[in-house]
Amino acid sequence: MSTVTDEQVWEALNEIKDQESGKSVVELNMIQGLQIKDGHVVFSIEVDPADAEAMEPLRKACEEIVFDLPGVLSATVVLTAERGGEAEAPVEAEQERHSGQQQPGGMEIPGVKSIIAVASGKGGVGKSTVAVNLALGLAAGGLKVGLMDADVYGPSLPRMMGIGGSPLSPDGKYMMPMSNYGIEAMSIGFLVPEETPMIWRGPMVMSALEQMMRDVKWGDLDVLVCDLPPGTGDAQLTMAQRVPLTGAVVVSTPQDVALADARKGIAMFDKVNVPTLGLIENMSYFVCPHCDERTDIFGHGGARDEAARQGIDFLGEIPIDPRLRETSDTGTPITAKEPDHSVSVAFKEIAAKVAEKIKTADAEAEAAAPRIVVS
Ligand code: ADP
Repeated sequence: MSTVTDEQVWEALNEIKDQESGKSVVELNMIQGLQIKDGHVVFSIEVDPADAEAMEPLRKACEEIVFDLPGVLSATVVLTAERGGEAEAPVEAEQERHSGQQQPGGMEIPGVKSIIAVASGKGGVGKSTVAVNLALGLAAGGLKVGLMDADVYGPSLPRMMGIGGSPLSPDGKYMMPMSNYGIEAMSIGFLVPEETPMIWRGPMVMSALEQMMRDVKWGDLDVLVCDLPPGTGDAQLTMAQRVPLTGAVVVSTPQDVALADARKGIAMFDKVNVPTLGLIENMSYFVCPHCDERTDIFGHGGARDEAARQGIDFLGEIPIDPRLRETSDTGTPITAKEPDHSVSVAFKEIAAKVAEKIKTADAEAEAAAPRIVVS
């Protein structure tokens, strides 16, 4: 079968006009990052963040016209906005609009039994590292696990899981997750090149997250682990509200400043009635590989104390370990590659606690759900 060329895609997209200006999306220079691989076409449409919601039909039109080209097996189009002069802070107005709009748990994912979020109050505390190794720990405990990188601002899952390339879409409608180490994974990083600078506003985050949930054939999973973006902005709120989360795991380092942010995360989940399954302390302490002396670089035990104060469970602590950094950053996650390493054992212990909590939370949710009785 002949495969589609760049020229054919550009020509087709030239037919799609912006209603207001009457100019095509190509003339307006809105198409970015076009990639074609074996008939799979991926690109983003750059839009003014203020118009993002109104641009959804345009996104769909671009996707459809490209999908209809001969030789195209799949077309994946996402809305983005160039990182520009505008503030990157979450748009409060949009956030509020969303909070009033959707019922919690509006979107079921077929075949997926439980969904948990891995969250942190701020970046750099090792949330993605924990998400990846927690997913592997759950899988080591015999569960069928998926990993969704909802961290649209800094998708690190492709690198940490050692997965490259773009997802396939055999039927042109659904994307297949990409898999490694027995985990089914999906990330916006598979769809948009890593170097593309992007900001995401509420509607765009929603559109991207919805695509990753609705348009991905996750298959049968016991648990889908979602790596949320750091903080308590739009994306986190969207996830917490739109997705039927069984619960959230909050990652923090031991210092007070980090814990203050973690507290905000816990409060956010509380507000939208998502149970916090527990707190994990990352970068808890450091054991010198040469002399075995232990140093509490950021203090130690802060998260355990905070969990007690908040009345939530403390799930465990992960030390600062150069091997964890090396393995994460080279796509060879420690829990998969070195299962007997003390850090891997710690992750598996945390995963076992999380698995238990998922079971309990799901059972409680089921007991609380209204029953329809046919008499
Ligand atoms: P976040 O998702 O919170 O932004 P990441 O998981 O991307 O953080 O981690 C940031 C960096 O810190 C990565 O290079 C990662 O390998 C490293 N890192 C995370 N946790 C640890 C740890 N316990 N010991 C050593 N390095 C770590």
